[in-house]
Amino acid sequence: MNIQDIRDMFPILNQEVNGNSLVYLDSAATSQKPTSVIEALDQYYRQYNSNVHRGVHTLGTKATDGYEGAREKVRKFINARSTEEVIFTRGTTTALNTVAASYGRANLAEGDEIVITYMEHHSNIIPWQQLAKATGATLKYLPLQEDGTISLEDVENTITDNTKIVSMVYVSNVLGTINPIKEITKIAHKHGAVMVVDGAQSTPHMKVDVQDLDCDFYAFSAHKMCGPTGVGVLYGKKHILEHMEPVEFGGEMIDFVDLYESTWKELPWKFEGGTPIIAGAIGFGAAIDFLEEIGLDKIEAHEHTLAQYALHRLSEVDGCTVYGPSKRAGLVTFNVNDVHPHDVATVLDADGIAVRAGHHCAQPLMKWLNVSATARASFYIYNNEEDVDRFVSSLIKTKEYFSNVF
Ligand code: PMP
Repeated sequence: MNIQDIRDMFPILNQEVNGNSLVYLDSAATSQKPTSVIEALDQYYRQYNSNVHRGVHTLGTKATDGYEGAREKVRKFINARSTEEVIFTRGTTTALNTVAASYGRANLAEGDEIVITYMEHHSNIIPWQQLAKATGATLKYLPLQEDGTISLEDVENTITDNTKIVSMVYVSNVLGTINPIKEITKIAHKHGAVMVVDGAQSTPHMKVDVQDLDCDFYAFSAHKMCGPTGVGVLYGKKHILEHMEPVEFGGEMIDFVDLYESTWKELPWKFEGGTPIIAGAIGFGAAIDFLEEIGLDKIEAHEHTLAQYALHRLSEVDGCTVYGPSKRAGLVTFNVNDVHPHDVATVLDADGIAVRAGHHCAQPLMKWLNVSATARASFYIYNNEEDVDRFVSSLIKTKEYFSNVF
């Protein structure tokens, strides 16, 4: 399959925005969806929409098969040992909050430490801030090297025997840094801490093997990997999940309900209170089929090439600062001279080019970078070098426009 074949599978890309053909460079915020995913959702609603688990009728059985079948696809995709370890959530944010609210509240106390980094998304900061406040534990930040990477020496110096939780992004949504999760997990485990991984930006773009990483929890969202919004996954090791209490209570997650006491279902359902995200999970399963058909190795290699090409092209733009290391995932975060990133994004939009501007839900990282905001172009399987060229040409035009204005 060549890139044009892949692009043709994304109907949304075939349109003009402000009189120009669309160049979509905001996949780190949310990816576009291929026809197969749109059709899986359409088929579910047209042909077998029904609630899962309880119904004995044909449609209910088909919906249950679709929902639980998607769980098996996720299991295989991340190489979890069992589907008991795959919990459907609303997304990465809900998955991380579940770990903090359930594991965290039960296992942390005053004197304990939670270690995170300066490059975290707000979704991997605030649940730990709240946990620290509720339990009296201390929140500690791993420092970053000047190029936006983490040194294992700093990891060794920051994690102590008091550390109970280490939580970290696998791939930064701002810097593109790819963190050495496997090595950091070993250090966390040496001190008896659990390792939580924010996989929102890694899972869509590279082969992830949770057994190989040996992390204890791993969170990700379908909408960044060609799937629908509103669904994601919390992976957790079975022996840990078994001892955790649910955080949402109600239908679907119970085994038996009496007037004053109730018991929970087995894993993974005890964490899935209420009617589950049926259509979302089925669409997610179709997204996984799609990504596997292309191949994660191919996706990673393609994005690597595009990111390197973008870095090269941006190095030709006078006054352009790119943040993050050169060895990076498929995104570039940058600023141009004194032009505000919102102005950059607005002028690019007039040329049909979608990039993101702002703090990217990473305000502590913006502080560390000493900027209030940045612009970001992020790539996926459907982007090509021509997209990068159009982006850079438009950026040069923007810069020239603003240098004449001031
Ligand atoms: N972590 C990272 C690194 C992200 O990029 C995002 C999404 N921008 C999230 C967490 C949160 O994901 P969601 O909004 O899908 O819960």
